[in-house]
Amino acid sequence: MTLHSIPTGNFKLDGGAMFGVVPKSIWNRSNPADENNMCSWAMRCLLIETNNRLILIDNGIGDKQDAKFFSYYYLHGDHSLEKSLKNSGFSPDDITDVFLTHLHFDHCGGSVKYANTEKSKLELSFKNATYWSNAKHWEWATHPNPREKASFIKENIMPIQESGQLKFIDQKTTLIPEMEIIFVDGHTESMMLPLIQYKGKKILFLADLVPSLGHLPIPYVMGYDVRPLETLKEKTLLLDKAAKEDWLLFFEHDSVNECCTVEQTDKGVRKKDLFTLSAYFGA
Ligand SMILES: [Zn+2]
Repeated sequence: MTLHSIPTGNFKLDGGAMFGVVPKSIWNRSNPADENNMCSWAMRCLLIETNNRLILIDNGIGDKQDAKFFSYYYLHGDHSLEKSLKNSGFSPDDITDVFLTHLHFDHCGGSVKYANTEKSKLELSFKNATYWSNAKHWEWATHPNPREKASFIKENIMPIQESGQLKFIDQKTTLIPEMEIIFVDGHTESMMLPLIQYKGKKILFLADLVPSLGHLPIPYVMGYDVRPLETLKEKTLLLDKAAKEDWLLFFEHDSVNECCTVEQTDKGVRKKDLFTLSAYFGA
């Protein structure tokens, strides 16, 4: 098995919204804001290559929405999903499985694309892939609450359902033996975090549980989370385990840091070492 980091580009979100109750005087040190109070975030996906499967975990923001939509998010950087797949030696048609941690637009927007230049028809970006979500989250995303409604965009979601290529995972099933799935409910209903066994280590894909290194302290929870007190419990449980068992933590949204290990300190769980996957495993 080989893991490939797949950067799909950066965007900006309001720093205050990203850090919830934490004051700017504190979060601005780890995540400096621009003149509009926006901070830069990565959309870093992960590709799992096995003998017969090519599993893409999340796929970034995509390119379907209009200029007004993208004007809110200040896309920047040189990376794109297609370019990163190509750099790893693959094309979209090679992907056998698309695993969606959750259906917020910055995680699943690359799932679906326009089929023609007139932008009148949508199709799956990965035509040979099975798309994986879970029943509870699908129901939640397709009947959204008013708070999350703007994050669940119909054109990212409905074509997957209509394609017949959608499958649901439950607590007992997984895609490959090396991947365990952890369900968390604080950020949104039934977000799925892959915990991957790789070269003798465990790697946790953090998605929006801990979006960046600056979010490691337990109370540093995003304002977007629907159940922040659940997030506190889920972070405590998983970060304690990560420190005890020396897991590698993979950040989807940190625009500078790709991975870290953590350790217990008298302040709580904090970073130990910072590195990229390829540097760590010498690929
Ligand atoms: Zn999210």
